Amino acid sequence: MAPNVPVIDIREVTRTYGEDPPALADVTLSVRAGEAVAVLGPSGSGKSTLLNLIAGLDRPSTGSVTVDGLRVDALSEAGSARYRRTRIGMVFQFFNLLDDLTVTDNVLLPAQLAGLSRGEARTRAAGLLESLRIDRHADAYPGRLSGGERQRVAVARALMNRPALLLADEPTGALDTASGDDVRALLADLNAAGQTIVLVTHDLALARSCATRTVELVDGRIVRDSGHVAPAATR
Ligand code: ADP
Ligand code: MG
Repeated sequence: MAPNVPVIDIREVTRTYGEDPPALADVTLSVRAGEAVAVLGPSGSGKSTLLNLIAGLDRPSTGSVTVDGLRVDALSEAGSARYRRTRIGMVFQFFNLLDDLTVTDNVLLPAQLAGLSRGEARTRAAGLLESLRIDRHADAYPGRLSGGERQRVAVARALMNRPALLLADEPTGALDTASGDDVRALLADLNAAGQTIVLVTHDLALARSCATRTVELVDGRIVRDSGHVAPAATR
């Protein structure tokens, strides 16, 4: 994608649950291709709500969410599932790997769901496992891997369909220091190679090492935004 085209365009989004104060209030945010945005903020400030809206897992009460040119808030359920399969990759705090599939089969799964040919999928999976340094565990089951290795597998799976956007919710939240460093370096490398990333974190070391931009939420509102920075590819 050309630089400076917004990958994410969120306009005046509010998300309320029942009578509670809004989980997100009047949030407008645009993210360009090549940016790595860290969304910071205290617990309950709306970070996961924001990520879920971008992922099409939730809908705004008012406002619009456009990702990669697609009005995500207006998709049907099937359209939303297809969007997640083809345009975005997601990484979670607790990896969400399937423990009865091998590492390779976990990584292949999104490609199979998207209908990629078996040969092409295998080639791509092997390449990802190698570049993420987990190829020696290709035939292992996730339960035998360390936390850092599992998260690398989860990142490989998220990248399988070459998503326009990689989303991560507390990707280092369940890792020890060394594994956390590993995943921080991996995400920084991916962004340096041009991958657009939005991550939610409490981990300031992650924000520092990986983010080109930080956005801070308090009570559902953006209270600070370090602003657009030229993506790595054009610096
Ligand atoms: P964070 O990820 O920053 O900790 P969340 O986005 O999970 O915050 O939550 C923001 C606010 O929205 C919190 O007050 C939370 O209780 C509320 N909230 C989130 N999801 C739901 C839900 N499904 N139903 C009701 N309230 C919710
Ligand atoms: Mg959260």
